[in-house]
Amino acid sequence: MALIVHKYGGTSMGSTERIRNVALRVAKWVRAGHQLVVVPSAMSGETNRLLGLARELAPTPTSAAAERELDAIAATGEQVSVGLLALALQAQGLDAVSYAGWQVPIATDSAFTKARIERIDDTRVRADLAAGKVVIITGFQGIDGQGNVTTLGRGGSDTSAVAVAAAMKADECLIYTDVDGVDTTDPRIVPEARRLASISFEEMLEMASLGSKVLQIRSVEFAGKYRVPLRVLSSFTPWDIAIDEEARSGTLITFEEDEKMEQAVVSGIAFNRDEAKITVMGVPDRPGIAYQILGPVADANIDIDMIIQNVSHDGKTDFSFTVHRNDYAKTLDLLKSKVAPATNAAQVLGDPKICKVSIVGIGMRSHVGVASKMFRTLSEEGINIQMISTSEIKTSVVIDEKYMELAVRALHKAFELEQPVPAA
Ligand code: ASP
Ligand code: MG
Repeated sequence: MALIVHKYGGTSMGSTERIRNVALRVAKWVRAGHQLVVVPSAMSGETNRLLGLARELAPTPTSAAAERELDAIAATGEQVSVGLLALALQAQGLDAVSYAGWQVPIATDSAFTKARIERIDDTRVRADLAAGKVVIITGFQGIDGQGNVTTLGRGGSDTSAVAVAAAMKADECLIYTDVDGVDTTDPRIVPEARRLASISFEEMLEMASLGSKVLQIRSVEFAGKYRVPLRVLSSFTPWDIAIDEEARSGTLITFEEDEKMEQAVVSGIAFNRDEAKITVMGVPDRPGIAYQILGPVADANIDIDMIIQNVSHDGKTDFSFTVHRNDYAKTLDLLKSKVAPATNAAQVLGDPKICKVSIVGIGMRSHVGVASKMFRTLSEEGINIQMISTSEIKTSVVIDEKYMELAVRALHKAFELEQPVPAA
């Protein structure tokens, strides 16, 4: 008997018919002798609908008081899901009980709309499991120290599931989604994209932070920190497929790099259209200038991603960096109104029509020439690289947004990602 956590995304919970299917699948696992904790998302579209209602009354809620209410509103989506799933399981003849985050409780900090889980008390859940019940816990939400309902940010149910699995030391956390696992890249852009049987935790972390939408990045961080065995798989396989087959499907996130890992140099290609580029031209090249430019941006709570400083020329230098597109206007404004006058910058330029394309692979650690192959491939397609950043296991470039699909396709081909890699 194993303790298994299942997480079902919004699409899997999208209608009562689908919820019935989830119940049949969960019942199959229970009848195979496992203890099950299930963490569902809100029904697809529901969180957007709820936040849409909120926006009609408060178009730009910025105060903590308003954000508190946004969380109170958005959290209801998952509350409906857990109740419906419990009913569907009871209809299958199983003992099932649902809990909202505060009932568990899942304790978080008070950062409304992006709260972090601090502690999970599993006493109640364990007692239910011991009594033979299936326990269903809302994804996405928790409760802060003052008793306020909080949410974990969009896509946060992944993190709820992994956190519950970590707290309960579950044998495995299965994330059921509307894709069949983690692919080499988005198959909507490259039809030859291939599902990876396994991916290392570090690669998954890079893929998630570089734009792959399969898992919320915090859930991957959590899985890494507590070494939660994690698998991403499809909820659209027939619910009655053999349990062994199901348990081996999808993509396993591994922690043992050398064990059973596919030994590709590059494992996947991620892309992200959510960033914008800003350049501050002609600032004096002197100690403290980076801080003078980026300090105010950080103080305004704006995240900076890539940064480039040019070599100086006649004592002046240029500075480029990227921010999230949502922060673009605000950043540009801040730089033009405050930073440029204070630093004597010649000009502030911006370009929101960029994208970041990245190749990711732990094989890059031990292979030379991977980045240069990326650059050659892009040059053969006539694609200009505007910025580059690297880490041990990834190389990212910023290019014109209009070449994104071309770049991803060309790189997928160049690194032969459509070919299955033999296990080492
Ligand atoms: N329902 C929430 C959202 O749509 C959380 C989740 O689905 O993971 O973002
Ligand atoms: Mg999701």
